Amino acid sequence: MKYNLDSLKGKVCVITGGGGVIGTALAIGLGEVGAKVAILDFIKDSADKTADLVTKNTGSKAIGVFANVLDKESLIKAKEEINAAFGKIDVLINGAGGNAPTATTKDEFLKTDSEKDLLNGFFGLDLGGFQRVFDLNFMGTLLPTLVFAVDLLNRDGIILNISSMNSFRPLTKIPAYSAAKASVNNFTEWLSVHFAKAGVRVNAIAPGFFVTQQNQFLLYKEDTTELTERGHKIISNTPMGKFGEPEDLLGTMFYLLSDLSKFVTGVVIPVDGGFNAYSGV
Ligand code: NAD
Repeated sequence: MKYNLDSLKGKVCVITGGGGVIGTALAIGLGEVGAKVAILDFIKDSADKTADLVTKNTGSKAIGVFANVLDKESLIKAKEEINAAFGKIDVLINGAGGNAPTATTKDEFLKTDSEKDLLNGFFGLDLGGFQRVFDLNFMGTLLPTLVFAVDLLNRDGIILNISSMNSFRPLTKIPAYSAAKASVNNFTEWLSVHFAKAGVRVNAIAPGFFVTQQNQFLLYKEDTTELTERGHKIISNTPMGKFGEPEDLLGTMFYLLSDLSKFVTGVVIPVDGGFNAYSGV
């Protein structure tokens, strides 16, 4: 068949944050189409576990590699390890990212009755927490690109950034995460233009809501399967009426990484059950 995923066979794909829930699903998907996968994570054990899963489930080659996306030296070492094991890198997926409770306001809307009210909103934001979340999502995309993208030049290389629905419409309570993901979209567009004549395409996926460790505390009441008020709000604002499964991202990933999208660069594709399209009315 003329339209297929053959262009991904044997390609060397690097996934940062690859030991996480979404990274693991993407890594297994890549293994299934015959790519060689380097799974990078700052929890080496998680990277190794994902690599084992890829090898056992798909028979494709995979390695777990330690790398902190905020530490250029560790990324340079990781690149040496990947190049020694698999050769030059063809695909970079910037998947490391996430929110944290320390960058989350307690209240959705600012109340002004007391000092405590102010601290439960914008005025109580922990600047250190804000900076860490902003850096993880933005600098954690920029730095791996700086280190790895040189391999991609003039060989049909591909960069895929993992953004979020927050980048289009900021959710309440999580300003650092929203702003950082918006900057990831902007960077995706900027870099797609900058690399357009150098044989590298740059795109992004904006996942809607998928239950993972980093957001579980916002979606479910502690140690229960009962949705929080926020969890209910999300489901009722998602026209398809459910959270996504990590595997739901695979089709869009395959499209953006394969020759099926060879004239596509600088786009951010929502995979969100209709959340972005729905006004709520
Ligand atoms: P996750 O927490 O399961 O995975 C994140 C992984 O990144 C973890 O394995 C963690 O160890 C690793 N990591 C964190 N900091 C790192 C660092 N400094 N260096 C290297 N690795 C680091 O989260 P996930 O849901 O799989 O998220 C993957 C991506 O998808 C993130 O960019 C996230 O923002 C994005 N996303 C997730 C959702 C969702 O609903 N889960 C929605 C939209 C976007």
